[in-house]
Amino acid sequence: METHAEIRHAMRALCAHYPNTYWRELEATNAYPDDFVNAMVESGFLGCLIPETYGGSGLGLQEAGVILEELSRSGGHPGACHAQMYTMGTLLRHGNEQQKQTYLPKIAAGQLRLQAFAVTEPDAGTDTTAITTFARRDANNYVVNGRKVFISRAEHSDLMLLLARTTPKQECQKKSQGMSVFLVDMRKVRGQEMQLQPIDMMMNHHCTEVSFNDMRIPADSLIGEEGKGFKYILDSLNAERILIAYECIGDSKFFIDRAKSYAAERVVFGRAIGQNQGVQFPIARAYTSMRAAELMVVTAAQKFDAGKACGEDANIAKLLASEASWAAGDTCLQTHGGFGFAKEFDIERKLRETRLYQVAPISTNLILSYVSEHVLGLPRSF
Ligand SMILES: Cc1cc2nc3c(=O)[nH]c(=O)nc-3n(C[C@H](O)[C@H](O)[C@H](O)COP(=O)(O)OP(=O)(O)OC[C@H]3O[C@@H](n4cnc5c(N)ncnc54)[C@H](O)[C@@H]3O)c2cc1C
Repeated sequence: METHAEIRHAMRALCAHYPNTYWRELEATNAYPDDFVNAMVESGFLGCLIPETYGGSGLGLQEAGVILEELSRSGGHPGACHAQMYTMGTLLRHGNEQQKQTYLPKIAAGQLRLQAFAVTEPDAGTDTTAITTFARRDANNYVVNGRKVFISRAEHSDLMLLLARTTPKQECQKKSQGMSVFLVDMRKVRGQEMQLQPIDMMMNHHCTEVSFNDMRIPADSLIGEEGKGFKYILDSLNAERILIAYECIGDSKFFIDRAKSYAAERVVFGRAIGQNQGVQFPIARAYTSMRAAELMVVTAAQKFDAGKACGEDANIAKLLASEASWAAGDTCLQTHGGFGFAKEFDIERKLRETRLYQVAPISTNLILSYVSEHVLGLPRSF
């Protein structure tokens, strides 16, 4: 297996071809980084979690995390492509052999993109069990109706992992039952029974509202057993939280690197601003917060790779890392004074990008609620 140092080295070399000007220009034109994503596929990085038997590199979540961390640290935006890494896990762990043989080698080879993960709905929000998008079985098909919101990269994906109800919530013993996961071939329905409506976001994230109007998909699009979809996506959700946490560590390092360089160079009142402890200390504090979060992130990824329960660790890692990166970004901006607001410095862009991770894929409040109830045993709040 490649060492983390080798992966970091190779990823830095790849990122050097996609400097900050590349990401800045993409954002200015709302464009998708097709050439970067292709380079990620060709290098094997994007398929790193796909087992070698299906054409991937067969690496673990720690290695995937290192890849995304380096991308973030370079100034790039992993939001354009990271989903393929974690959504693929649901197919890998719960799909049947035919589904895996059909899709995984093509995803690994870059012939198909699985970049869309459709869970959130406008009227359900964080309460996933309240989703109402419904897939009704009709002979050899399912007929899907409903609406999703904030679905990233749907315009740039061939496949979508879709969570829908197959039994109404009121007919289930537990509210987490009665939901199913489907692997939808978007190429056959996009623009017809599946409509995408782009949402202009604070950062270049290619979000869409997706509506399904009597969308007919073959019954063999179902992953695993009907009604168990919520359970199936939990693994992907933990993987997603851990990978996002790695990205936040990368963002923190980007901000700390930039802040310390600028503080050492910028001369005001006849001396480097970094000589002032009022400038040094926030940078040092951002570094200590990043290091503490990093320990938690690595712990969570190690547990995930070992097949151990990691819900607590994944949630805590995401919370700490997203707060560390925001604090590092704020400090970096402050260190740069007025220049921090100038787009050509990329700090304001990275700060907007890293802010997302206190809200999505799960908000800080919901993590605190999970820790309160499930870790500390405090009374259930909702
Ligand atoms: C850029 C972007 C990309 C996204 N990409 C995807 C995607 O690809 N696929 C997908 O399925 N979803 C995606 N999402 C959706 C994202 O996962 C949700 O926005 C997020 O889970 C929060 O849901 P919500 O926006 O409905 O907020 P709400 O659930 O409406 O919550 C609003 C606020 O209230 C707080 N809150 C709610 N209930 C409680 C409570 N009981 N106690 C305390 N506080 C509470 C929350 O913490 C939050 O701060 C994306 C979102 C964004 C912004």
